[in-house]
Amino acid sequence: MRCEVVAIGTELLLGQITDTNASYLASKLPELGIDLLWVTQVGDNLARMKECLERAWNRSDLVLTGGGLGPTEDDLTREAIAELMGEELRVDPELEQELREFFSRRGYQMPRSNIKQATLIPSARGIPNPRGTAPGWWVERDGKVIIAMPGPPSEMQRMWEKEVSQRLRERVPEIIISRTLKTYLLAEAAVGEMVGPYLSSANPTVAVYAKPDGIQLRLTAKAGSRDEAGGIVAQLEEGVRGIMGDSIWGCDDETLESVVGALLTEKGLTLATMESCTGG
Ligand code: AMP
Ligand code: MG
Repeated sequence: MRCEVVAIGTELLLGQITDTNASYLASKLPELGIDLLWVTQVGDNLARMKECLERAWNRSDLVLTGGGLGPTEDDLTREAIAELMGEELRVDPELEQELREFFSRRGYQMPRSNIKQATLIPSARGIPNPRGTAPGWWVERDGKVIIAMPGPPSEMQRMWEKEVSQRLRERVPEIIISRTLKTYLLAEAAVGEMVGPYLSSANPTVAVYAKPDGIQLRLTAKAGSRDEAGGIVAQLEEGVRGIMGDSIWGCDDETLESVVGALLTEKGLTLATMESCTGG
């Protein structure tokens, strides 16, 4: 399943907020076997938002949007999706009632402009959002899906975890598993040449990354189950370790400090450090 994340909000383009929603979704999609192929950011502008969504809709099977579901005039995600689908926005009585109850539970009268948060188009179903006033939208047409989620990370993450991810899991019969091997004392190009034969494989894949603590290799497999994908990665790891030998010092979350610490403990050794005269 080809997926695109569209992060919506002029604040993103002004550098006032960082797009943590896209990073969050990017970290969650592999375990569902969903390939995230594009992340786009667009401001609160109806024409550009529609253009962005249209491109995403044409090239992806799943479009996840974040932001632009608020009650104010610059919150235009619903309008953009409605225009893209050529469908009309209508107030949904059930959503309206839920929204009014959200306010009355807190002892407020609902401001009139909030009513747009109770609108739907015929292809959209509301997605509950108990943490805020903006329900999400699950839009389905021609076998493709757009899921619009609110911008505030706590609302978006709850919606993803409780309402969206399970429904997507049921649609995608695959899972993606990755393992990172960490090397030292080798240049990026040298590592690339050593694992060269693996680099052209489409599944599993091997990718080379330069990081502050050395060159890393990310091994990734996609398969029908966690066991199957794990087996493929394990077999690949054996092959790569056969080539890289002692150049690999750790994997996944291991750090140089944790690996050295574990070796010292295992060997019953201690390490003392001192600093002087550095002014630091
Ligand atoms: P919006 O619904 O677009 O008005 O967004 C409401 C708030 O959610 C923003 O002011 C940000 O604090 C937060 N937010 C929106 N989009 C993102 C994003 N992509 N990453 C992190 N926070 C976001
Ligand atoms: Mg906004």
